[in-house]
Amino acid sequence: MARIGFIGLGNMGAPMVKNLLKAGHELAVFDVSKKAMDKVVPDGASPSSSAKQCAQGAEFVISMLPAGQHVYDLYLGKNKLMEIISEHKNALVIDCSTIEADVAQKVAKFAKGLKVGFVDCPVSGGVGGAVSGNLAFMVGGTKIDYNRVKPVLECMGKNIFYAGKSGAGQIAKACNNMLLGIVMAGTSEVLNMGMRNGMDPLVLSEIIKKSTGQNWAVEVYNPVPGIMKNVPSANSYKGGFQVDLMLKDLGLAMELCKNSLTPAPLGSQALSLYALHKNKGFGKLDFSSIFELYAENRTTK
Ligand code: NAD
Repeated sequence: MARIGFIGLGNMGAPMVKNLLKAGHELAVFDVSKKAMDKVVPDGASPSSSAKQCAQGAEFVISMLPAGQHVYDLYLGKNKLMEIISEHKNALVIDCSTIEADVAQKVAKFAKGLKVGFVDCPVSGGVGGAVSGNLAFMVGGTKIDYNRVKPVLECMGKNIFYAGKSGAGQIAKACNNMLLGIVMAGTSEVLNMGMRNGMDPLVLSEIIKKSTGQNWAVEVYNPVPGIMKNVPSANSYKGGFQVDLMLKDLGLAMELCKNSLTPAPLGSQALSLYALHKNKGFGKLDFSSIFELYAENRTTK
């Protein structure tokens, strides 16, 4: 079992730590919020007073932070964390945050200069997947580092993909979430269209599930309230994956499109729709609440 330093104990990080502890790893943890650290101490994690203390002597350092700037500042900032990490021979950094691919590549290059391994390793599956240990991981880096991190990641998830060289994990994540945003908006659009033309959304959903429009949203995450139990639409769109996070991920996807001159009219439309929805005050709701953007002007038939 490994000595792991884990930094960032928010909605995702805390349950990931709990699953690593369950698997028998030794965990030192750090978060700028003491309250966040207190959540995992009863499970056996050792709280640290700084990121440096957390990383000292760790074979693996895992980070789960809000955005690229946090990751860049953590590893390349003034506290020289990467140098502390490099004191452990064979140390490997696993960054699970969703960030810009080029930031991940810069941090990986810096790590390589200090003989530290680095993989970008964003996740899919949300808080539910983090709690149940069913996350999917998309790993970007060398194949050797992938083989080293796989057993650690298997304590937190079932599907561990090798996406390709450094940055590829982040590119895969941006592709997946851009499609997710489009699919959810498209599904909401057609269900609302059917309802406005007098169809029962349950009947329409069952038809689509068995027809060529079949997709993840209609199958397991129906955006129309009253169709499915145990989904955010059944709970006033609370919980789940926030509109704010979807907007962040669509922004990362658009950045990739801009840098590679990739046309993405559907992705940019989706970004505009979620931005409009956020501007109406719904940033903290689950992203399937985009249905309400279409439905708010529904006339009674
Ligand atoms: P969160 O805001 O709940 O948690 C982030 C944690 O990082 C907070 O506890 C914060 O105090 C801590 N933090 C910030 N800066 C820090 C620093 N310099 N040092 C130590 N701790 C610091 O966010 P989250 O929902 O856990 O998401 C984390 C990452 O995972 C994001 O990049 C997000 O895009 C991605 N992600 C989230 C979900 C989801 O459903 N929440 C799903 C997939 C991916």
